Amino acid sequence: MTLPLYAVYGASGHGRETMPLARGWCSSHGLPPDRLVFIDDAPPAALVNGHRVLTWEAFLQQDATSRHAAIAIAGSRVRERLALRCEAHAVALWSLQAANAVLMDDVQLGAGALISPFAALTCNLRIGRCFHANLYSHVSHDCVIGDYVTFAPGVRCNGNVVIGDHAYIGAGAVIRQGRPGAPLVIGAGAVVGMGAVVTRDVPPGAVVAGNPARPLPRKESAC
Ligand code: UDP
Repeated sequence: MTLPLYAVYGASGHGRETMPLARGWCSSHGLPPDRLVFIDDAPPAALVNGHRVLTWEAFLQQDATSRHAAIAIAGSRVRERLALRCEAHAVALWSLQAANAVLMDDVQLGAGALISPFAALTCNLRIGRCFHANLYSHVSHDCVIGDYVTFAPGVRCNGNVVIGDHAYIGAGAVIRQGRPGAPLVIGAGAVVGMGAVVTRDVPPGAVVAGNPARPLPRKESAC
């Protein structure tokens, strides 16, 4: 009997951290373990943590009634490119949430979100596509977060903050709260360094670090 096929896209660090969430989901939905694979365009091995690693082409060639992929790669530009690739080939963007993650009230999450263990998203949140909330990160009330935004572990984002597409917030960063009608704004493509304390708006594309966070010269990156 043909069944759906589920995948974690990316068999490196974040992919391997995401696979247990995927496994839990498949097990609770009665899917046999062989219906869950990694996709990786440069497979590190044939088998990773007990799951087959397929190239994208091999994934598409498997018999399946439907195909689903959770894109577990921190680089947001890569994530966007792979999300568009999935959609162009009728592969659904798969969202995963750890059993102990907390989503409280009126949390709207776009397709392909990955919410890691101990993350908390409180209330009245609007969050775009393929959001990554890594371990112990939290988002407080009334935040608006764009597409392909990445929260590394331990980010603390207080209430009334607006974050543009492709922003990257480093591990342990703290973002001060905004006010209703006057949010604190982190612009699209901005990078907030690990441990930064963001007390004021960050312009689009800026890199900030420190306490209080200040701009650093930006190096061009391919991701
Ligand atoms: N990768 C891929 N297709 C791409 C870009 C990356 O399959 O177009 C894979 C890459 O081979 C690697 C993983 O995604 O195995 C990304 O690993 P990395 O350590 O850069 O990211 P992380 O897991 O830390 O987010």
